[in-house]
Amino acid sequence: MVQIAIDGPVGAGKGTVARLVAERLGILYVDTGAMYRAAALIAKRAGVSGEDEVRIAKLVDQAKIELRQPQGEERDGRLITVIVDNEDVSWKIRTEEMSQGSAVVSKHPQVRAVLVQKQQTMAKKQSVIMEGRDIAYRVLPEANLKIYLTADEQERARRRFKQMQERGIESTFEKVLLDIKWRDAQDFGRKTDPLKMVKGAWLLDTTGMTIEGVVDKIVRRGKNL
Ligand code: C5P
Repeated sequence: MVQIAIDGPVGAGKGTVARLVAERLGILYVDTGAMYRAAALIAKRAGVSGEDEVRIAKLVDQAKIELRQPQGEERDGRLITVIVDNEDVSWKIRTEEMSQGSAVVSKHPQVRAVLVQKQQTMAKKQSVIMEGRDIAYRVLPEANLKIYLTADEQERARRRFKQMQERGIESTFEKVLLDIKWRDAQDFGRKTDPLKMVKGAWLLDTTGMTIEGVVDKIVRRGKNL
């Protein structure tokens, strides 16, 4: 079984790249950020404050979170289908509110422990390419290939802004850049399992590269695993 771990900051293209590599290699794509977003949605719906670590961890532990490749009508531009207790929440977790909510719930060690366990269970059953912030050193420390995918701040903001325009979400470049800076501060500054590059990881700076170029590079290495 193959395990590919991708970590990196928001807007580096982890999701798009991982989805395409998964298709080319015929393995499962696991978006761990989607699981933290799902946790934020679960907390909100239960009327639980994002700061209530114990209750959120319990609710998330009891929830059934499934990730799968979009099938049939689900192919509407999403990268992955996210099902929580049999409800398709794939787009409901992509709002600004859930972006911020997920940054809050992901601070809690107990919530992380529950989700890491679910992620490890997914990777036991099949070959995976998993992306997030703590994959290489926490979730899949034995991964065959560890990648740290990044790009400079301006480029990440440009990509995110373009993606939002394509989806018809109104914003400005300046707002998107500010959001990227805020989320970087949360990711790098988190006490429990912050974003970091592990020793021996493959640093892939995608500034100025096309998506296809990045995917080709990873697939070439992935085929030899
Ligand atoms: O990648 P995405 O923006 O969807 O992640 C949502 C939130 O979950 C972010 O705040 C990110 O820091 C957090 N996260 C995390 N650990 C992961 C993946 C995402 O803390 N492995």
